[in-house]
Amino acid sequence: MKTIEHWINGSLTAGASSQTAPVFNPATGQEQARVALGSAADVDTAVTAASTAFETWSESSLTQRTQVMFAFRRLLVDHEEELGRIVSAEHGKTVDDARGEITRGREVVEFACGLGDVLKGSFSDQVSRGIDVHDFRQPLGVVAGITPFNFPAMVPLWMHPIAIATGNTFILKPSERDPSAANFVAELYRKAGLPDGVFNVVHGGKEAVDAILTHPGIEAVSFVGSTPIAKYVHETATAHGKRVQALGGAKNHAVVLPDADIEFAANHIAAGAYGSAGERCMALSVAVAVADAADALVEVLERKTREVKVGPGNAPGTEMGPLVTRAAQERVEGAVATAHAQGATVVVDGRGLKIDGHEEGFFTGPSLLDHVTTRMDAYKEELFGPVLAIVRADSLDQAIGLINANPYGNGTALFTGSGEAARRFQRNVKIGMIGINVPVPVPMSYYSFGGWKDSLIGDSPVHGPEGIRFYTRPKVVTTRWPQPTQQLSVGFDFPTSS
Ligand code: NAD
Repeated sequence: MKTIEHWINGSLTAGASSQTAPVFNPATGQEQARVALGSAADVDTAVTAASTAFETWSESSLTQRTQVMFAFRRLLVDHEEELGRIVSAEHGKTVDDARGEITRGREVVEFACGLGDVLKGSFSDQVSRGIDVHDFRQPLGVVAGITPFNFPAMVPLWMHPIAIATGNTFILKPSERDPSAANFVAELYRKAGLPDGVFNVVHGGKEAVDAILTHPGIEAVSFVGSTPIAKYVHETATAHGKRVQALGGAKNHAVVLPDADIEFAANHIAAGAYGSAGERCMALSVAVAVADAADALVEVLERKTREVKVGPGNAPGTEMGPLVTRAAQERVEGAVATAHAQGATVVVDGRGLKIDGHEEGFFTGPSLLDHVTTRMDAYKEELFGPVLAIVRADSLDQAIGLINANPYGNGTALFTGSGEAARRFQRNVKIGMIGINVPVPVPMSYYSFGGWKDSLIGDSPVHGPEGIRFYTRPKVVTTRWPQPTQQLSVGFDFPTSS
Protein backbone atom coordinates (compact mmCIF):
# COMPACT_ATOMS: atom_id res chain seq x y z
CA MET A 1 0.00 0.00 0.00
CA LYS A 2 1.38 3.41 -1.02
CA THR A 3 2.19 5.88 1.80
CA ILE A 4 1.78 9.58 1.06
CA GLU A 5 4.73 11.32 2.74
CA HIS A 6 5.46 14.87 3.86
CA TRP A 7 7.25 17.32 1.57
CA ILE A 8 9.87 19.20 3.55
CA ASN A 9 12.80 21.23 2.24
CA GLY A 10 12.31 20.13 -1.34
CA SER A 11 11.90 16.38 -0.93
CA LEU A 12 9.58 13.68 0.32
CA THR A 13 10.14 12.38 3.84
CA ALA A 14 8.41 9.77 5.98
CA GLY A 15 8.85 12.00 9.02
CA ALA A 16 9.42 11.15 12.65
CA SER A 17 6.08 9.49 13.35
CA SER A 18 5.17 6.04 12.07
CA GLN A 19 1.44 6.79 12.37
CA THR A 20 -0.67 6.76 9.20
CA ALA A 21 -4.35 7.11 8.26
CA PRO A 22 -6.30 5.53 5.40
CA VAL A 23 -7.09 7.42 2.18
CA PHE A 24 -10.15 6.03 0.40
CA ASN A 25 -11.37 5.99 -3.16
CA PRO A 26 -14.93 7.25 -2.45
CA ALA A 27 -16.28 5.77 -5.70
CA THR A 28 -15.29 2.22 -4.74
CA GLY A 29 -15.15 2.49 -0.95
CA GLN A 30 -11.67 0.89 -1.08
CA GLU A 31 -8.64 2.10 0.84
CA GLN A 32 -6.18 3.20 -1.86
CA ALA A 33 -3.26 4.63 0.18
CA ARG A 34 -2.09 5.58 3.65
CA VAL A 35 -1.11 9.13 4.58
CA ALA A 36 1.61 9.95 7.11
CA LEU A 37 0.27 11.63 10.25
CA GLY A 38 2.77 14.32 11.17
CA SER A 39 3.90 14.83 14.75
CA ALA A 40 5.14 17.94 16.57
CA ALA A 41 8.67 16.87 15.59
CA ASP A 42 7.70 16.87 11.90
CA VAL A 43 6.19 20.35 12.19
CA ASP A 44 9.38 21.49 13.91
CA THR A 45 11.50 20.09 11.07
CA ALA A 46 9.34 21.94 8.55
CA VAL A 47 9.59 25.19 10.54
CA THR A 48 13.38 24.90 10.65
CA ALA A 49 13.53 24.39 6.88
CA ALA A 50 11.08 27.23 6.23
CA SER A 51 12.94 29.59 8.61
CA THR A 52 16.24 28.95 6.85
CA ALA A 53 14.60 29.42 3.44
CA PHE A 54 13.02 32.68 4.63
CA GLU A 55 16.45 34.24 5.12
CA THR A 56 17.14 34.14 1.37
CA TRP A 57 13.61 34.10 -0.07
CA SER A 58 12.63 37.29 1.77
CA GLU A 59 15.71 38.96 0.21
CA SER A 60 14.85 37.80 -3.32
CA SER A 61 13.63 40.47 -5.73
CA LEU A 62 10.03 41.08 -6.62
CA THR A 63 10.96 40.12 -10.19
CA GLN A 64 12.40 36.76 -9.09
CA ARG A 65 9.33 35.98 -6.99
CA THR A 66 6.82 36.88 -9.69
CA GLN A 67 8.82 34.93 -12.29
CA VAL A 68 8.38 31.81 -10.17
CA MET A 69 4.64 32.56 -10.05
CA PHE A 70 4.45 32.94 -13.85
CA ALA A 71 6.22 29.58 -14.28
CA PHE A 72 4.02 27.94 -11.63
CA ARG A 73 0.91 29.25 -13.38
CA ARG A 74 2.04 27.74 -16.70
CA LEU A 75 2.62 24.37 -14.99
CA LEU A 76 -0.85 24.48 -13.41
CA VAL A 77 -2.31 24.98 -16.89
CA ASP A 78 -0.21 22.17 -18.40
CA HIS A 79 -1.02 19.72 -15.57
CA GLU A 80 -4.66 20.66 -14.96
CA GLU A 81 -6.05 17.35 -16.21
CA GLU A 82 -3.54 15.30 -14.18
CA LEU A 83 -4.13 17.28 -10.99
CA GLY A 84 -7.89 17.13 -11.61
CA ARG A 85 -7.72 13.34 -11.73
CA ILE A 86 -5.71 13.22 -8.50
CA VAL A 87 -8.32 15.39 -6.76
CA SER A 88 -11.22 13.36 -8.18
CA ALA A 89 -9.69 10.03 -7.14
CA GLU A 90 -9.47 11.00 -3.45
CA HIS A 91 -12.34 13.48 -3.09
CA GLY A 92 -14.90 11.82 -5.39
CA LYS A 93 -15.95 14.96 -7.33
CA THR A 94 -16.03 14.79 -11.12
CA VAL A 95 -12.80 15.45 -13.01
CA ASP A 96 -14.38 18.47 -14.72
CA ASP A 97 -15.46 19.89 -11.35
CA ALA A 98 -11.92 19.34 -10.04
CA ARG A 99 -10.54 21.16 -13.09
CA GLY A 100 -12.91 24.01 -12.25
CA GLU A 101 -11.47 24.34 -8.76
CA ILE A 102 -7.92 24.31 -10.18
CA THR A 103 -8.89 27.11 -12.59
CA ARG A 104 -10.35 29.20 -9.77
CA GLY A 105 -7.25 28.55 -7.62
CA ARG A 106 -4.98 29.44 -10.54
CA GLU A 107 -6.63 32.86 -10.67
CA VAL A 108 -4.98 33.58 -7.31
CA VAL A 109 -1.60 32.73 -8.86
CA GLU A 110 -2.43 35.19 -11.65
CA PHE A 111 -3.20 37.82 -9.01
CA ALA A 112 0.17 37.03 -7.40
CA CYS A 113 1.89 37.43 -10.80
CA GLY A 114 0.77 41.08 -10.71
CA LEU A 115 2.14 41.64 -7.25
CA GLY A 116 4.47 44.40 -8.42
CA ASP A 117 1.43 46.60 -8.86
CA VAL A 118 -0.57 45.72 -5.75
CA LEU A 119 2.44 45.82 -3.40
CA LYS A 120 3.35 49.40 -4.29
CA GLY A 121 3.64 51.63 -1.26
CA SER A 122 2.65 55.27 -1.08
CA PHE A 123 4.72 58.41 -0.84
CA SER A 124 3.84 61.83 0.55
CA ASP A 125 6.07 64.68 -0.48
CA GLN A 126 6.90 67.58 1.86
CA VAL A 127 4.58 66.65 4.75
CA SER A 128 6.59 69.17 6.72
CA ARG A 129 9.41 71.42 5.52
CA GLY A 130 12.08 69.11 4.07
CA ILE A 131 10.31 65.98 5.29
CA ASP A 132 8.76 63.17 3.20
CA VAL A 133 6.88 60.04 4.27
CA HIS A 134 6.63 56.69 2.51
CA ASP A 135 5.40 53.26 3.47
CA PHE A 136 6.08 49.73 2.34
CA ARG A 137 5.11 46.21 3.41
CA GLN A 138 7.33 43.32 4.42
CA PRO A 139 6.67 39.57 4.76
CA LEU A 140 5.94 38.04 8.16
CA GLY A 141 8.25 35.00 8.09
CA VAL A 142 7.08 31.38 8.27
CA VAL A 143 3.31 31.11 7.79
CA ALA A 144 1.03 28.06 7.73
CA GLY A 145 -2.21 26.97 6.05
CA ILE A 146 -4.61 24.34 7.39
CA THR A 147 -7.18 23.31 4.80
CA PRO A 148 -10.37 21.24 4.39
CA PHE A 149 -11.08 18.18 2.26
CA ASN A 150 -13.60 19.75 -0.07
CA PHE A 151 -11.24 21.83 -2.22
CA PRO A 152 -7.85 20.12 -1.90
CA ALA A 153 -6.37 22.24 -4.71
CA MET A 154 -8.28 25.54 -4.64
CA VAL A 155 -8.37 26.40 -0.94
CA PRO A 156 -4.59 26.01 -0.42
CA LEU A 157 -4.19 28.07 -3.64
CA TRP A 158 -6.15 30.86 -1.93
CA MET A 159 -3.23 31.07 0.48
CA HIS A 160 0.24 29.99 -0.63
CA PRO A 161 0.70 31.98 -3.88
CA ILE A 162 0.10 35.26 -2.07
CA ALA A 163 2.10 34.26 1.02
CA ILE A 164 5.06 33.12 -1.10
CA ALA A 165 4.96 35.96 -3.63
CA THR A 166 5.04 38.49 -0.79
CA GLY A 167 8.25 36.85 0.51
CA ASN A 168 7.03 34.46 3.21
CA THR A 169 7.77 30.75 3.44
CA PHE A 170 4.84 28.37 3.80
CA ILE A 171 3.84 25.14 5.56
CA LEU A 172 0.65 23.49 4.31
CA LYS A 173 -1.27 21.01 6.44
CA PRO A 174 -3.86 19.67 3.98
CA SER A 175 -6.84 17.50 4.81
CA GLU A 176 -5.82 13.95 5.62
CA ARG A 177 -8.74 12.68 3.50
CA ASP A 178 -7.36 13.86 0.13
CA PRO A 179 -3.69 14.71 0.70
CA SER A 180 -2.10 13.95 -2.71
CA ALA A 181 -2.91 17.25 -4.45
CA ALA A 182 -0.65 19.10 -1.98
CA ASN A 183 2.39 16.97 -2.88
CA PHE A 184 1.68 17.37 -6.59
CA VAL A 185 1.58 21.16 -6.17
CA ALA A 186 4.88 20.99 -4.26
CA GLU A 187 6.45 19.26 -7.29
CA LEU A 188 5.08 21.96 -9.59
CA TYR A 189 6.60 24.69 -7.41
CA ARG A 190 9.96 22.88 -7.54
CA LYS A 191 9.74 22.70 -11.34
CA ALA A 192 8.83 26.41 -11.39
CA GLY A 193 12.15 27.20 -9.69
CA LEU A 194 10.96 27.82 -6.14
CA PRO A 195 13.90 27.27 -3.75
CA ASP A 196 13.75 24.33 -1.33
CA GLY A 197 12.07 25.06 1.99
CA VAL A 198 9.82 27.88 0.71
CA PHE A 199 6.81 25.56 0.28
CA ASN A 200 6.46 22.57 2.62
CA VAL A 201 3.70 20.05 3.27
CA VAL A 202 3.17 18.35 6.63
CA HIS A 203 0.34 15.84 6.50
CA GLY A 204 -1.70 14.83 9.51
CA GLY A 205 -4.58 15.56 11.81
CA LYS A 206 -5.03 17.20 15.19
CA GLU A 207 -1.48 16.59 16.45
CA ALA A 208 0.06 18.36 13.46
CA VAL A 209 -2.51 21.17 13.68
CA ASP A 210 -1.86 21.73 17.38
CA ALA A 211 1.89 21.84 16.78
CA ILE A 212 1.35 24.53 14.11
CA LEU A 213 -0.95 26.60 16.33
CA THR A 214 1.55 26.70 19.19
CA HIS A 215 4.93 26.74 17.40
CA PRO A 216 6.86 29.93 18.24
CA GLY A 217 8.50 29.93 14.79
CA ILE A 218 5.21 30.36 12.91
CA GLU A 219 3.98 33.94 12.50
CA ALA A 220 0.53 33.45 10.98
CA VAL A 221 -2.06 30.72 10.40
CA SER A 222 -4.67 30.60 7.64
CA PHE A 223 -7.47 28.12 8.28
CA VAL A 224 -10.47 27.01 6.24
CA GLY A 225 -12.81 24.31 7.55
CA SER A 226 -15.78 23.77 9.83
CA THR A 227 -16.87 26.46 12.31
CA PRO A 228 -16.03 24.61 15.56
CA ILE A 229 -12.46 23.96 14.37
CA ALA A 230 -12.18 27.51 12.99
CA LYS A 231 -13.06 28.86 16.45
CA TYR A 232 -10.54 26.52 18.09
CA VAL A 233 -7.80 27.47 15.64
CA HIS A 234 -8.51 31.19 16.07
CA GLU A 235 -8.50 31.02 19.87
CA THR A 236 -5.42 28.80 20.15
CA ALA A 237 -3.24 30.50 17.56
CA THR A 238 -4.06 34.06 18.67
CA ALA A 239 -3.34 33.02 22.27
CA HIS A 240 0.11 32.03 20.96
CA GLY A 241 0.66 35.44 19.41
CA LYS A 242 -0.12 34.61 15.80
CA ARG A 243 -2.03 36.46 13.15
CA VAL A 244 -5.02 34.25 12.18
CA GLN A 245 -7.57 34.12 9.39
CA ALA A 246 -10.16 31.38 10.02
CA LEU A 247 -13.01 30.64 7.62
CA GLY A 248 -15.79 28.36 8.87
CA GLY A 249 -18.88 26.51 7.71
CA ALA A 250 -21.97 27.70 5.89
CA LYS A 251 -25.68 27.38 5.27
CA ASN A 252 -26.32 29.28 2.06
CA HIS A 253 -29.82 30.42 1.10
CA ALA A 254 -31.11 31.12 -2.40
CA VAL A 255 -34.18 33.37 -2.43
CA VAL A 256 -36.58 33.06 -5.36
CA LEU A 257 -39.07 35.90 -5.91
CA PRO A 258 -42.30 35.41 -7.89
CA ASP A 259 -40.99 37.64 -10.70
CA ALA A 260 -37.97 35.38 -11.31
CA ASP A 261 -37.60 33.12 -14.34
CA ILE A 262 -38.42 29.92 -12.43
CA GLU A 263 -36.83 27.53 -14.94
CA PHE A 264 -33.60 29.57 -14.89
CA ALA A 265 -33.61 29.78 -11.08
CA ALA A 266 -34.32 26.06 -10.59
CA ASN A 267 -31.56 25.10 -13.04
CA HIS A 268 -29.01 27.18 -11.19
CA ILE A 269 -30.21 26.22 -7.74
CA ALA A 270 -30.01 22.50 -8.57
CA ALA A 271 -26.43 22.96 -9.84
CA GLY A 272 -25.54 25.01 -6.75
CA ALA A 273 -27.09 22.45 -4.40
CA TYR A 274 -25.95 19.16 -5.92
CA GLY A 275 -22.69 20.09 -7.70
CA SER A 276 -19.74 18.42 -5.94
CA ALA A 277 -22.40 16.44 -4.00
CA GLY A 278 -23.17 19.58 -1.97
CA GLU A 279 -19.66 19.49 -0.47
CA ARG A 280 -18.94 23.15 -1.21
CA CYS A 281 -18.81 25.94 1.34
CA MET A 282 -20.77 28.00 -1.20
CA ALA A 283 -23.28 25.20 -1.98
CA LEU A 284 -26.90 26.26 -1.87
CA SER A 285 -28.56 24.17 0.83
CA VAL A 286 -31.74 26.21 1.38
CA ALA A 287 -34.09 27.63 -1.26
CA VAL A 288 -36.43 30.27 0.15
CA ALA A 289 -39.44 30.35 -2.15
CA VAL A 290 -41.35 33.60 -1.77
CA ALA A 291 -45.16 33.57 -2.08
CA ASP A 292 -46.39 32.35 -5.49
CA ALA A 293 -42.91 31.19 -6.55
CA ALA A 294 -43.09 28.13 -4.28
CA ASP A 295 -45.23 25.55 -6.09
CA ALA A 296 -43.76 26.27 -9.51
CA LEU A 297 -40.22 26.16 -8.10
CA VAL A 298 -40.77 22.81 -6.37
CA GLU A 299 -42.24 21.33 -9.54
CA VAL A 300 -39.23 22.28 -11.68
CA LEU A 301 -36.71 21.41 -8.94
CA GLU A 302 -38.22 17.95 -8.58
CA ARG A 303 -37.64 17.31 -12.27
CA LYS A 304 -34.08 18.71 -12.14
CA THR A 305 -33.27 16.67 -9.03
CA ARG A 306 -34.42 13.42 -10.63
CA GLU A 307 -32.33 14.18 -13.74
CA VAL A 308 -28.98 14.48 -11.89
CA LYS A 309 -26.54 11.86 -13.23
CA VAL A 310 -24.75 10.27 -10.25
CA GLY A 311 -21.67 8.10 -10.76
CA PRO A 312 -17.91 7.82 -10.32
CA GLY A 313 -16.14 11.15 -10.72
CA ASN A 314 -13.96 9.87 -13.58
CA ALA A 315 -16.84 8.46 -15.67
CA PRO A 316 -17.86 10.58 -18.68
CA GLY A 317 -21.24 12.23 -18.23
CA THR A 318 -21.26 12.08 -14.42
CA GLU A 319 -22.66 15.26 -12.87
CA MET A 320 -22.37 14.28 -9.21
CA GLY A 321 -19.91 11.89 -7.56
CA PRO A 322 -19.96 10.11 -4.20
CA LEU A 323 -19.50 11.70 -0.77
CA VAL A 324 -16.02 11.78 0.68
CA THR A 325 -16.39 9.09 3.36
CA ARG A 326 -18.77 6.41 4.55
CA ALA A 327 -19.39 8.56 7.66
CA ALA A 328 -20.46 11.50 5.47
CA GLN A 329 -22.81 9.23 3.49
CA GLU A 330 -24.41 7.93 6.70
CA ARG A 331 -24.68 11.43 8.20
CA VAL A 332 -26.43 12.83 5.10
CA GLU A 333 -28.84 9.91 4.75
CA GLY A 334 -29.58 10.14 8.49
CA ALA A 335 -30.39 13.84 8.06
CA VAL A 336 -32.96 13.04 5.34
CA ALA A 337 -34.58 10.47 7.66
CA THR A 338 -34.68 13.00 10.52
CA ALA A 339 -36.19 15.67 8.25
CA HIS A 340 -38.96 13.26 7.27
CA ALA A 341 -39.58 12.38 10.93
CA GLN A 342 -39.73 16.08 11.83
CA GLY A 343 -42.43 16.79 9.23
CA ALA A 344 -40.63 17.81 6.04
CA THR A 345 -41.97 16.48 2.74
CA VAL A 346 -39.34 14.32 1.04
CA VAL A 347 -40.07 15.21 -2.60
CA VAL A 348 -37.04 13.32 -3.94
CA ASP A 349 -35.33 10.74 -1.72
CA GLY A 350 -31.70 10.09 -2.62
CA ARG A 351 -31.07 7.51 0.08
CA GLY A 352 -29.89 3.99 -0.68
CA LEU A 353 -28.63 4.72 -4.18
CA LYS A 354 -26.46 1.92 -5.59
CA ILE A 355 -24.26 2.47 -8.65
CA ASP A 356 -23.62 -0.61 -10.81
CA GLY A 357 -20.09 -1.87 -10.35
CA HIS A 358 -19.53 0.56 -7.45
CA GLU A 359 -21.86 -0.91 -4.85
CA GLU A 360 -19.43 -0.17 -1.99
CA GLY A 361 -18.91 3.47 -3.02
CA PHE A 362 -20.01 6.31 -0.72
CA PHE A 363 -22.90 7.34 -2.98
CA THR A 364 -26.16 8.98 -2.07
CA GLY A 365 -28.55 10.52 -4.58
CA PRO A 366 -29.70 14.14 -4.42
CA SER A 367 -32.58 14.74 -2.00
CA LEU A 368 -35.19 17.50 -2.23
CA LEU A 369 -37.09 18.45 0.94
CA ASP A 370 -40.15 20.74 0.95
CA HIS A 371 -42.01 22.49 3.79
CA VAL A 372 -38.83 22.69 5.87
CA THR A 373 -39.08 25.03 8.86
CA THR A 374 -36.35 26.84 10.76
CA ARG A 375 -36.88 24.54 13.75
CA MET A 376 -35.94 21.39 11.83
CA ASP A 377 -32.42 19.93 12.02
CA ALA A 378 -32.23 19.89 8.22
CA TYR A 379 -32.44 23.68 8.37
CA LYS A 380 -30.27 24.27 11.42
CA GLU A 381 -27.32 21.99 10.62
CA GLU A 382 -24.71 22.27 7.91
CA LEU A 383 -25.41 18.91 6.17
CA PHE A 384 -22.58 19.27 3.61
CA GLY A 385 -24.26 16.86 1.20
CA PRO A 386 -26.66 16.87 -1.76
CA VAL A 387 -29.75 17.87 0.20
CA LEU A 388 -31.79 20.93 -0.78
CA ALA A 389 -34.32 22.22 1.75
CA ILE A 390 -37.19 24.43 0.57
CA VAL A 391 -38.49 26.95 3.06
CA ARG A 392 -41.56 28.99 2.15
CA ALA A 393 -41.75 32.72 2.96
CA ASP A 394 -44.42 35.39 2.41
CA SER A 395 -42.19 38.26 1.34
CA LEU A 396 -38.66 39.33 0.48
CA ASP A 397 -38.34 41.03 3.85
CA GLN A 398 -39.30 37.82 5.63
CA ALA A 399 -36.67 35.95 3.57
CA ILE A 400 -34.03 38.53 4.49
CA GLY A 401 -35.00 38.19 8.17
CA LEU A 402 -34.59 34.43 7.95
CA ILE A 403 -31.14 34.71 6.42
CA ASN A 404 -30.04 37.29 8.96
CA ALA A 405 -31.20 35.12 11.88
CA ASN A 406 -29.11 32.19 10.64
CA PRO A 407 -25.77 31.91 12.46
CA TYR A 408 -23.83 31.42 9.20
CA GLY A 409 -23.12 34.22 6.73
CA ASN A 410 -21.02 32.86 3.88
CA GLY A 411 -22.95 33.21 0.62
CA THR A 412 -26.47 33.85 -0.64
CA ALA A 413 -28.24 34.32 -3.96
CA LEU A 414 -31.36 36.18 -5.06
CA PHE A 415 -33.30 35.25 -8.18
CA THR A 416 -35.42 38.13 -9.41
CA GLY A 417 -36.11 40.44 -12.34
CA SER A 418 -36.38 43.48 -10.05
CA GLY A 419 -33.45 45.85 -9.59
CA GLU A 420 -35.17 47.43 -6.60
CA ALA A 421 -35.53 44.07 -4.85
CA ALA A 422 -31.93 43.16 -5.67
CA ARG A 423 -30.63 46.42 -4.24
CA ARG A 424 -32.70 46.03 -1.04
CA PHE A 425 -31.48 42.46 -0.70
CA GLN A 426 -27.78 43.20 -1.14
CA ARG A 427 -27.90 46.17 1.23
CA ASN A 428 -29.81 44.46 4.02
CA VAL A 429 -28.62 40.89 4.08
CA LYS A 430 -25.88 40.03 6.64
CA ILE A 431 -23.81 37.85 4.31
CA GLY A 432 -20.29 38.25 2.94
CA MET A 433 -20.76 37.09 -0.67
CA ILE A 434 -23.95 37.78 -2.61
CA GLY A 435 -25.15 36.63 -6.03
CA ILE A 436 -27.90 38.36 -7.99
CA ASN A 437 -29.18 35.67 -10.37
CA VAL A 438 -25.77 34.01 -9.73
CA PRO A 439 -26.06 30.88 -7.57
CA VAL A 440 -22.47 30.38 -6.34
CA PRO A 441 -20.97 33.88 -6.10
CA VAL A 442 -17.31 33.02 -5.42
CA PRO A 443 -15.42 36.32 -5.84
CA MET A 444 -12.64 36.66 -8.40
CA SER A 445 -9.12 36.47 -6.99
CA TYR A 446 -8.60 40.26 -7.07
CA TYR A 447 -11.49 40.62 -4.60
CA SER A 448 -11.34 38.87 -1.24
CA PHE A 449 -13.27 35.77 -0.21
CA GLY A 450 -14.95 35.55 3.19
CA GLY A 451 -18.27 35.37 4.95
CA TRP A 452 -19.80 37.04 7.97
CA LYS A 453 -20.90 35.70 11.38
CA ASP A 454 -19.95 32.05 12.08
CA SER A 455 -18.57 31.64 8.55
CA LEU A 456 -15.54 33.79 9.36
CA ILE A 457 -13.93 33.91 12.78
CA GLY A 458 -11.81 37.00 13.32
CA ASP A 459 -11.68 39.72 10.71
CA SER A 460 -9.59 38.58 7.77
CA PRO A 461 -11.01 37.17 4.52
CA VAL A 462 -8.62 35.38 2.15
CA HIS A 463 -6.85 36.38 -1.10
CA GLY A 464 -7.17 39.63 -3.03
CA PRO A 465 -6.28 42.81 -1.13
CA GLU A 466 -7.01 41.17 2.24
CA GLY A 467 -4.55 38.39 1.43
CA ILE A 468 -1.79 40.91 0.76
CA ARG A 469 -2.60 42.69 4.01
CA PHE A 470 -2.68 39.43 5.97
CA TYR A 471 0.71 38.10 4.83
CA THR A 472 2.61 41.39 5.21
CA ARG A 473 3.06 44.13 7.78
CA PRO A 474 3.55 47.80 7.05
CA LYS A 475 6.43 50.13 7.80
CA VAL A 476 6.08 53.90 7.58
CA VAL A 477 9.28 55.90 7.12
CA THR A 478 9.57 59.63 7.81
CA THR A 479 12.67 61.09 6.10
CA ARG A 480 14.65 64.33 6.27
CA TRP A 481 17.87 65.05 4.43
CA PRO A 482 19.09 68.32 5.98
CA GLN A 483 20.95 70.74 3.75
CA PRO A 484 24.42 71.46 5.08
CA THR A 485 23.56 75.15 5.41
CA GLN A 486 20.20 74.61 7.08
CA GLN A 487 19.83 76.14 10.52
CA LEU A 488 18.01 73.75 12.81
CA SER A 489 16.26 74.82 15.92
CA VAL A 490 15.30 71.71 17.81
CA GLY A 491 12.66 72.03 20.51
CA PHE A 492 11.71 69.46 23.12
CA ASP A 493 7.99 69.65 22.33
CA PHE A 494 6.24 66.77 20.51
CA PRO A 495 7.08 67.18 16.80
CA THR A 496 4.37 68.73 14.62
CA SER A 497 4.54 69.68 10.97
CA SER A 498 5.18 73.21 9.84
P1 NAD B 1 -12.73 20.20 9.21
O1 NAD B 1 -12.96 21.39 10.07
O2 NAD B 1 -13.11 18.87 9.74
O3 NAD B 1 -11.17 20.09 8.84
C1 NAD B 1 -10.44 21.20 8.37
C2 NAD B 1 -8.97 21.03 8.77
O4 NAD B 1 -8.89 21.00 10.20
C3 NAD B 1 -8.36 19.72 8.26
O5 NAD B 1 -7.05 20.00 7.81
C4 NAD B 1 -8.37 18.82 9.49
O6 NAD B 1 -7.29 17.92 9.50
C5 NAD B 1 -8.26 19.80 10.64
N1 NAD B 1 -8.97 19.33 11.84
C6 NAD B 1 -10.11 18.60 11.88
N2 NAD B 1 -10.47 18.36 13.16
C7 NAD B 1 -9.54 18.95 13.94
C8 NAD B 1 -9.36 19.06 15.36
N3 NAD B 1 -10.22 18.51 16.22
N4 NAD B 1 -8.30 19.76 15.81
C9 NAD B 1 -7.43 20.31 14.95
N5 NAD B 1 -7.54 20.24 13.61
C10 NAD B 1 -8.58 19.57 13.10
O7 NAD B 1 -13.44 20.49 7.82
P2 NAD B 1 -13.65 19.51 6.59
O8 NAD B 1 -14.67 18.48 6.93
O9 NAD B 1 -12.34 19.05 6.06
O10 NAD B 1 -14.25 20.52 5.51
C11 NAD B 1 -15.61 20.86 5.44
C12 NAD B 1 -15.91 22.12 6.20
O11 NAD B 1 -15.12 23.19 5.72
C13 NAD B 1 -17.36 22.57 6.05
O12 NAD B 1 -17.83 23.03 7.29
C14 NAD B 1 -17.26 23.70 5.04
O13 NAD B 1 -18.32 24.64 5.09
C15 NAD B 1 -15.98 24.31 5.45
N6 NAD B 1 -15.40 25.11 4.37
C16 NAD B 1 -15.51 26.47 4.47
C17 NAD B 1 -15.00 27.27 3.46
C18 NAD B 1 -15.12 28.77 3.54
O14 NAD B 1 -14.57 29.42 2.68
N7 NAD B 1 -15.78 29.35 4.53
C19 NAD B 1 -14.38 26.68 2.35
C20 NAD B 1 -14.29 25.30 2.29
C21 NAD B 1 -14.80 24.52 3.32
